Amino acid sequence: MCGIIGYIGDKPVSKILINGLKRMEYRGYDSAGISILQDNKIYTIKKKGKVAELEKMVNHEVFHSNYGIAHTRWATHGYPNDINAHPHLDNSGDISIVHNGIIENYSVLKTKLLSDGYSFKSETDTEVLAVFIGSIYEKIKDIETSIRLALREVDGTFGLLVLSKREPEKLIAARRGSPLLLGVGNGEYLVASDASAVIQYTKQVIYLNDNEICTISHDGYSIKTIENEDTEPIIEEIEFDLEHIEKGGFDHFMLKEIFEQPDTIHDAFRGRLLVDEGNVKLGGLNAVIEQLRNTDRIIITACGTSWHSGLVAEYLIESLAGVSVEVEYASEFRYRNPIINKNDIVFAISQSGETADTLAAIKEAKQKGAIVLGIVNVVGSSIARETDAGVYIHAGPEIGVASTKAFTSQLTVFTLIALLIGRMRNLSKWEGQKIAKEITLIPDKIRYILEQKDKIKEIANIYSKVRNFLYLGRGYNFPVALEGALKLKEISYIHAEGYPAAEMKHGPIALIDENMPVVIIATKDEIYDKVFSNIEEVKARKGKIIAIANVGDEKICEVADHVIYIPETLPVLTPLLSVIPLQLLAYYVALDLNCDIDKPRNLAKSVTVE
Ligand code: GLU
Repeated sequence: MCGIIGYIGDKPVSKILINGLKRMEYRGYDSAGISILQDNKIYTIKKKGKVAELEKMVNHEVFHSNYGIAHTRWATHGYPNDINAHPHLDNSGDISIVHNGIIENYSVLKTKLLSDGYSFKSETDTEVLAVFIGSIYEKIKDIETSIRLALREVDGTFGLLVLSKREPEKLIAARRGSPLLLGVGNGEYLVASDASAVIQYTKQVIYLNDNEICTISHDGYSIKTIENEDTEPIIEEIEFDLEHIEKGGFDHFMLKEIFEQPDTIHDAFRGRLLVDEGNVKLGGLNAVIEQLRNTDRIIITACGTSWHSGLVAEYLIESLAGVSVEVEYASEFRYRNPIINKNDIVFAISQSGETADTLAAIKEAKQKGAIVLGIVNVVGSSIARETDAGVYIHAGPEIGVASTKAFTSQLTVFTLIALLIGRMRNLSKWEGQKIAKEITLIPDKIRYILEQKDKIKEIANIYSKVRNFLYLGRGYNFPVALEGALKLKEISYIHAEGYPAAEMKHGPIALIDENMPVVIIATKDEIYDKVFSNIEEVKARKGKIIAIANVGDEKICEVADHVIYIPETLPVLTPLLSVIPLQLLAYYVALDLNCDIDKPRNLAKSVTVE
């Protein structure tokens, strides 16, 4: 959650900070603010709403300073309003901070500070940290040490960036649990929550580790631990280019990302698929290949859309590799007492690689002795570094808050993993070849579906004013039904539920009347006839059927109000195709309702709070 950006260099700072915030706005967008130190004064401007609101105010000022800090917020403590927006100042007004995360013991610290005579303007946990740092500074007059001492007393998570009038021409950053990186440019440095905010200026970055503190001046930087030990920072190169984080002619990032899927899926299997051998090579898993061969149980843990891809992975791995799989929400896994047996392997899935619940689940699994593998998009992210090994999905930056291309890339990678494990166990070469070959055809089949966007838009416009939707699917398509419902909820705010089609008669059927659209995935597989019966059941109660069916299925037209055709593929690969029309349907419903598609209300892209 939230985006932090800081700059120190030779250019005027305000434009750089606003641009950085815009690039990271998908991370949090309820309010935003900046602090710039100029002529021995800290200018702080904060505003409720989107970065554009802040930009208007900043444009009224003339700044010539070349360093400052900024923040776009996703509120955890206190309403999204001007006062609670970051930056927050200490009581002297000389120290300004921006923060991502939660100070869990803020109320204890606040009580103590109040009794010592300090005061607070906002309801945030972050202001408590600012005042706390200021209170230490009063005694020891050294900003870096004050921050270090304060952070030793803090429970919770932080990505932190500090500017102080008492020690000008300097920024101090620190991290525990929330991502932060240092961009190393030519005579300039940037601190940011994610690489998209710095790529315009430099591709050289250092990802800060937990419990590190970084002091940056015009002359260079030093990184130490919060305990004041030296570190050995490694400069890495950002793997993507500026064009990857721009809209490229599409109206929304989400639409662009939906249309990128033929390429992103190709990128997920490129160089990894050995079609002739019916096998797969995944360099990231070489170190654990024997453990994968011998495992008795796989546990998959994730949140949101990634959890849905975990559910598809359960079907995939059980059917291709014959290993028993359990899928669990990371937030639940962490707080019960999960049983981890010898030989169990845990997969953690996260697009951003920063999801706090998933990170906590990883720590719990490691604590219990499991091998933990990451399925992550963002290279160098916390989960990528925290796990024993893993596979990058290589989907490129995903900016739309509602995930689309990351989902299908996760599915592609799990198909490869299921093949890999299967071929080490019982899956025949012939079976492996058949699947591998079919994977290579998926990008073109998705292109075929994308061409039907206008038809899907027409259907969306018919139903955009309803208040409820039902999504049904069976087998591999059950998690897809969940994902379709989630997409609609996220971006159009229409209530939608996903169910296994056969479960409908155990409850949800009570909801069906002539106003209820029911999206049913009815692809040709061994349970097609059963799903067809479910369609009849909906029809008998006058529900409106939007069917996702295979090209050539004429029979379905007799019962469905609308049919969206997708090409046939193997059942194990069906979700890669059946989810595409559901993404488009959600998109066009939200478009018709004039919703803020890339930044849906209350959501944020990278959920770095528990
Ligand atoms: N906990 C802080 C707040 O509510 C920071 C939230 C964030 O990461 O944006 O202001």
